[in-house]
Amino acid sequence: MHLDLHPDFKGTSQGEQARHLLSACVHCGFCLATCPTYLDNRDERDSPRGRIYLIKQLLETGQASARTHTHLDRCLGCRSCETTCPSGMQYGQLLDLGRELMEHRAPRPATQTGGRWLLRRAIANRRLFSSALRLGQLLRPLLPRFLRDQIPPRVHPGALPTRVHARKMLLLEGCVQSAATPLTNAAARRVFDRLGISLVAAPRAGCCGALNHHMAAHPDALQDIRRNIDAWWPAIEAGAEAIVTTATGCGSMLADYGRLLAADEAYADRARRVSELARDAAQVLLDEDLEALGAAARERVAVHTPCSLQHALQQPQLITGLLTRAGFELVPAPDSHLCCGSAGSYSILQPALAKRLRQRKLEALETNAPELIATANVGCQLHLQAGASVPVVHWLQLLDPA
Ligand code: SF4
Ligand code: SF4
Repeated sequence: MHLDLHPDFKGTSQGEQARHLLSACVHCGFCLATCPTYLDNRDERDSPRGRIYLIKQLLETGQASARTHTHLDRCLGCRSCETTCPSGMQYGQLLDLGRELMEHRAPRPATQTGGRWLLRRAIANRRLFSSALRLGQLLRPLLPRFLRDQIPPRVHPGALPTRVHARKMLLLEGCVQSAATPLTNAAARRVFDRLGISLVAAPRAGCCGALNHHMAAHPDALQDIRRNIDAWWPAIEAGAEAIVTTATGCGSMLADYGRLLAADEAYADRARRVSELARDAAQVLLDEDLEALGAAARERVAVHTPCSLQHALQQPQLITGLLTRAGFELVPAPDSHLCCGSAGSYSILQPALAKRLRQRKLEALETNAPELIATANVGCQLHLQAGASVPVVHWLQLLDPA
């Protein structure tokens, strides 16, 4: 695709990056068939190709309207289109770039900007999010059903291991996950302990930066990334084997740290090292002796592989492969490539569309009557659980010796 840059973008790093990215697209439209938003409304502007044209138009004219915001906001960022594209289009990078330009070229109404700022602050700040969640959990019995379903009940994570092993890995506890689904990281600590590995959290590490990054707040995202690198670096220098993530959305963000800080002389090398060390918990377990876990495989399980795992990290079989090896009976679910509608803050900002996508996903997951649905990302877990007729768990809970 040829790009005739507007003078404002000529010679800028964003303009040159966009030219490079857009040159891969050959307009073929293959990506339309696997785009959840296009399948929902059949509007070309809500397809990958349509959004690529909207971003191109912005880069060529220097102008954009509120309609462009609408169609870019409706994009899940699921990157299913990247998996389908025969031409190697890196749509996710173009979307991030387009969204950032849009915030400057077509400012949102003040109420929308303020709402998005509040949302980013409330979710990414672990203490603030925990307090808000606790309040919601206290009021839960008094709330109407549709609101109650959005708030996960309070659960006790159980006893944590106290042994200290010679093998050590860092654990990214995350922002939402540690408060909303505390069983996941507790299960990870117990499973790894059983395998002779201590998972250690760095207290100063926090949100991986994905929330800010995907909401076009790039300077804030870079601040998150630098803070995490600083927090992890002493343990990395002391020989931590890996940085383990238990939410695939965070894992795909860590994999990008090296690229995002490539131009930052002070952090580039360390950011690249962090990306090299980042591992989803399932990737680590695949190299270990799973029999040592003695997991009791009783239930029929349907697996929902998050988009961040199958399209961003390109590991579509990771969870199914691991659970099969651990002895679980997995039931097939059609359209496994399609997003469930969670997509970070998407289910809050685009509730109607997110709900339709969830409905479609749950129909597929429940086709073969599973007793449980297992997934690998906190956002998908909470979003699916709000509409599912069976429990939705993190796969680590299935292997948890507790
Ligand atoms: S499949 Fe790839 S090359 Fe074809 S229109 Fe979509 S992004 Fe462009
Ligand atoms: S990222 Fe997902 S929703 Fe967005 S254009 Fe690609 S396939 Fe469609």
